[in-house]
Amino acid sequence: QKQIKLINRPKGTPTKDDFKMISGPIESASDGEVVVKTVYISVDPYLRGRMNDTKSYIPPFALNEMITSGVIGQVIQSNSSLFDKGDVVLGALPWQEYSVVKENAVRKIDHQMAPASAYLSVLGMTGLTAYFGLLDIGKPKEGETVVVSGAAGAVGSIVGQIAKLKGAHVVGIAGSEEKVKYLIDELRFDAAINYKTQNVAQALREACPNGIDVYFENVGGEISDAIFPLLNNFARIPVCGAISSYNNEQADVGPRVQGYLIKTSSLMQGFTVGNYSARFGEGAKELATWLKEGKLKYEETITEGFDHTIDAFLDLFNGANLGKAIVKVADI
Ligand code: NDP
Repeated sequence: QKQIKLINRPKGTPTKDDFKMISGPIESASDGEVVVKTVYISVDPYLRGRMNDTKSYIPPFALNEMITSGVIGQVIQSNSSLFDKGDVVLGALPWQEYSVVKENAVRKIDHQMAPASAYLSVLGMTGLTAYFGLLDIGKPKEGETVVVSGAAGAVGSIVGQIAKLKGAHVVGIAGSEEKVKYLIDELRFDAAINYKTQNVAQALREACPNGIDVYFENVGGEISDAIFPLLNNFARIPVCGAISSYNNEQADVGPRVQGYLIKTSSLMQGFTVGNYSARFGEGAKELATWLKEGKLKYEETITEGFDHTIDAFLDLFNGANLGKAIVKVADI
């Protein structure tokens, strides 16, 4: 079977040479283990951070070992009383076509209720990130202005829609005309800004005539710098990600923000979705309800074939994805 290993710690933007596709054995399952066929692989910006040998909230990937990420798979052989052949499961699994895993390393998902891939997107890690970051830290109120960057991506697209459900005026920032059109026409954002072609500071002033109450931060850098002068008193800034700096070789330097936070008594708080693991059930239930009621839409950019997993990962930094980036490896 094919497997993908990390062979170099990327310097700057990762390239294909930092990874190696190899051929490895398919192990057999011992007692309490199952063999899982990989169906969908989640490719995520945070994996870039794990490729550096630095201290973080999650350990770095080891060199010459397989990358792991969220995977939807199907049990093809079971030595566990908890799983039957054919069950569809979710877990953090290595980038390979078949994995042998302990029964407590995966959990069953109900793929009748929603397509299996949704458990990597709107009903999975990225949907939960949007849900808890926005509602627990951003706390948008009716009539307030919420700005989200990375707005057409997996997290951002859900953030904006939840903010709309809460009655906010929602402005998205994204990197193409197609994405801007999607945010306005499909997701019903009140305004959207193309940061690649527009002057973001000026466009924000026009789109946010009443200032900004919540800024959901996904990208950092110059886009983020344009937000601070527009903050209202007691604004909230959930800091979810800063993808514009993930490939920087030098530490990022920009305008200092303390003055803006002091003047407006604003709250800026970083978080990881793992902080909310005890409440995942609650979040997933509400997201599923909104989905069923047609109040939440989601998009996935599915790349076909295990051989293209690395391309799909690298494409995150080019903005090739609309909604969640997922690799389809096999049929269920
Ligand atoms: P996305 O689906 O949003 O994909 C990444 C997007 O980032 C691209 O499509 C691209 O869109 C945009 N992007 C890439 N490079 C840049 C750049 N230099 N400047 C601005 N935008 C850029 O990924 P996710 O939704 O999975 O993740 C979004 C953010 O949330 C990331 O920063 C990620 O690390 C973070 N995150 C944090 C979690 C947490 O627990 N704190 C959990 C999950 C994600 P465009 O065309 O608009 O440029």
